[in-house]
Amino acid sequence: MDEKLPLNVVIVGGSIAGLMHGIMLTRRGHHVRILEQSTDNIRHGQAAGIRAGPEVQRFLKEFDQYKAQPYALDCPGMQFINNKSEYKRFINFPMQQTSWTMLYYRLRANFDGLVSKHCPNAARSGTGEAIYDLGKQLVSLTERNSQVEVECKDLSTGKTLSLVADLVIGADGSHSAVRRNFFPAQRGQDRPYAGYLAWRGGVLESEVSDETRSLLKNNFTVFKMPKNYILVYTIPGSDGGMEPGQRILNFVWYHNCPDEGDFRSIMTDTAGVVHRTTLQPGMMRPEIWKHQVQFAKDHLAAPFVELVEKSAEPFVAAVSDNLCASATFLNDKVILVGDALALFRPHIALSANQAAYDCLELQKVLDGQSTMAKWNRKVLWYGEATRQLSIVSGSFSQFGGWPLVKSVAVYGFVLSKHKVLSFYHALF
Ligand SMILES: Cc1cc2nc3c(=O)[nH]c(=O)nc-3n(C[C@H](O)[C@H](O)[C@H](O)COP(=O)(O)OP(=O)(O)OC[C@H]3O[C@@H](n4cnc5c(N)ncnc54)[C@H](O)[C@@H]3O)c2cc1C
Repeated sequence: MDEKLPLNVVIVGGSIAGLMHGIMLTRRGHHVRILEQSTDNIRHGQAAGIRAGPEVQRFLKEFDQYKAQPYALDCPGMQFINNKSEYKRFINFPMQQTSWTMLYYRLRANFDGLVSKHCPNAARSGTGEAIYDLGKQLVSLTERNSQVEVECKDLSTGKTLSLVADLVIGADGSHSAVRRNFFPAQRGQDRPYAGYLAWRGGVLESEVSDETRSLLKNNFTVFKMPKNYILVYTIPGSDGGMEPGQRILNFVWYHNCPDEGDFRSIMTDTAGVVHRTTLQPGMMRPEIWKHQVQFAKDHLAAPFVELVEKSAEPFVAAVSDNLCASATFLNDKVILVGDALALFRPHIALSANQAAYDCLELQKVLDGQSTMAKWNRKVLWYGEATRQLSIVSGSFSQFGGWPLVKSVAVYGFVLSKHKVLSFYHALF
């Protein structure tokens, strides 16, 4: 890719991946318009927590100019407890835990200077134009010589708008409309169900007992039983509070649900609508949650029973994963990044990291240290290997046996394939 200045870039999707790419590009003087289908600047995370992995930390170290307060909480490591709440094992594995909301507002502060409770003194510093265009939903992409015509729907007027861009970045998540533009047959199959659910919820730290707080000790705490495991870690409060008491104890409970009838029943909301991927907070039918709480009381360790019982707005997501066959289209004028390119099962908590990885690799192309062909190979490799590792992790905890053996074999194949291809590309 020639870095002729300034490129007119359209980014579809203004969440983590879209904003990271927008910040990197405007700092280099490019003009960026983010098309975001949400109609409001104020957005709520799912209080499901996000791990700031190594690439997220590298990205923020280089690009975050809002240093007024930290963006993540220190988590010393992973601890495992048994059903009597006794410590069984500790793994020294320091992590940085944050929330979607914290990252979103921090990235908005850096992209277009959005002032929020999380970043009250925001001021942007990119030299290129930075537009966060709300209520715009992608309709189609068409090649127009050296550029791309982007058609989007204005959700407030219903009208279709047309824009022209030198580069289009598809950062529109796991149901990506950009990806569907090139793979229309994938509609409806973009998130195949893995056979188990992730029940999620959060409780304000000040609302849990001293006993539970002192047992968790800011660690990533895990309780495991056959076909189930539940974990909890601390994330910033919904208004960004980082002080003890203001923070949220955020749990994820993986629970097998292979039966189609059970799945449909759980995913049917209070209005009778059946959901395919996520039942958002506030939508779960009370009898479904009551049943899940009873299961917790019968089987889980006491701190987790307390968290499940006190969770005011639980929600549930069908676990799934996916990988697109290519990251570049129309002679590199359209690229896919983040969840739009590869969706991981949540066990390894690397989705935000992928967004940062894709962005930092693109920066190398613009710096002349890499090429788009290399970028395509690297991001696909990262997506494929990380996705398969997330399948190994899920198979280990939920199934064991043949599914685990198969997932490990595929992971081994993916790693070997990468070695052979790297060798080949080094030669030619
Ligand atoms: C509101 C929100 C809350 C989240 N909360 C959590 C959380 O608490 N924990 C967690 O682990 N992950 C959360 N995620 C997912 C998390 O952001 C991703 O897994 C990961 O960080 C990669 O982000 P992404 O930018 O690639 O994709 P996503 O975060 O999925 O973002 C995709 C963006 O594209 C927009 N979009 C989709 N289709 C179109 C279209 N046709 N036209 C225009 N815009 C479109 C969406 O509105 C969204 O803003 C959340 C995502 C969102 C959108």
